[in-house]
Amino acid sequence: MIKIGSHVSMTSPNFFLGSVNEAISYNANTFMFYTGAPQNSLRVPLERLKINEAWKMMKDNNIDINNVIVHAPYLINLANLNQEKVAISYNLLVNEINRTIKMGCKYIVLHPGASMDYNRIESLNQVANLLNKAIDSNPSICILLETMAGKGSEIGKVFEEIKYIIDKIDKKDSIGVCLDTCHIHDGGYNLCCVDELIAKFDSIIGLSYLKVCHINDSKNEMGAHKDRHENIGYGKIGFDNLINFIYHPLIQDKIFILETPYIKDDKNSFPPYKFEISSILNKKFDENLYQEVISYYKK
Ligand code: FE
Ligand code: FE
Ligand code: ZN
Repeated sequence: MIKIGSHVSMTSPNFFLGSVNEAISYNANTFMFYTGAPQNSLRVPLERLKINEAWKMMKDNNIDINNVIVHAPYLINLANLNQEKVAISYNLLVNEINRTIKMGCKYIVLHPGASMDYNRIESLNQVANLLNKAIDSNPSICILLETMAGKGSEIGKVFEEIKYIIDKIDKKDSIGVCLDTCHIHDGGYNLCCVDELIAKFDSIIGLSYLKVCHINDSKNEMGAHKDRHENIGYGKIGFDNLINFIYHPLIQDKIFILETPYIKDDKNSFPPYKFEISSILNKKFDENLYQEVISYYKK
């Protein structure tokens, strides 16, 4: 059985316990969450997050906490060479790392950042230095650098840049990669040829560093550098290519996380994950996804 889940929310009043329950409601065996709003630094104290209850619920439902993923807030930019700004990002990251570990998780996904108008190599070097420092502050963490679509000056849009950072990390057990299928497609990698793609990743970075795959279809053409996620089988990557990727024999030990968009009717929006997970497990494209999701959550 593959390890598959989705992004879930963590909101009042049940917080972490609520995240676990949400994952269970999708028939997922893992999940990913933000420890607070991704776009700001306001954080509910750990004591209020129902962590012990969440752990028990996971245990009772065969969710292995070692497969549960935290996503760092996306406002963190370790690549910004403005020293005042990067200090804020760095402190935010260290705080998130501490929360991740206290919640019992090991993996935190991080966007490598954007070099803005600065020199790209200097930005990459700074990211590596700050990661080394952050890892030293809590070596039991494993930071997963996410492959990016290459919007604006984003770094991490080619495997070589991720590799460049990893090479400079001292504690190799504390660094890894999260491959996002939408991002690499938008970045110009072709998911039609999964063997080639995985071989390329392996030769440049090494498959042992790959821990998590974000599974998303894309609204845009290959190489568009846009980063707009689409529901599984409804975008430009397509169902068969995503299935061939997920079930590739060389990545069966990885953790697969959906970050596809909610489905909207005129007033509300509903999570597609229960139905997308089932379609992935059955390897059968769900042509009625929209109607099924809306009628399931509306009743
Ligand atoms: Fe991400
Ligand atoms: Fe992602
Ligand atoms: Zn994205």
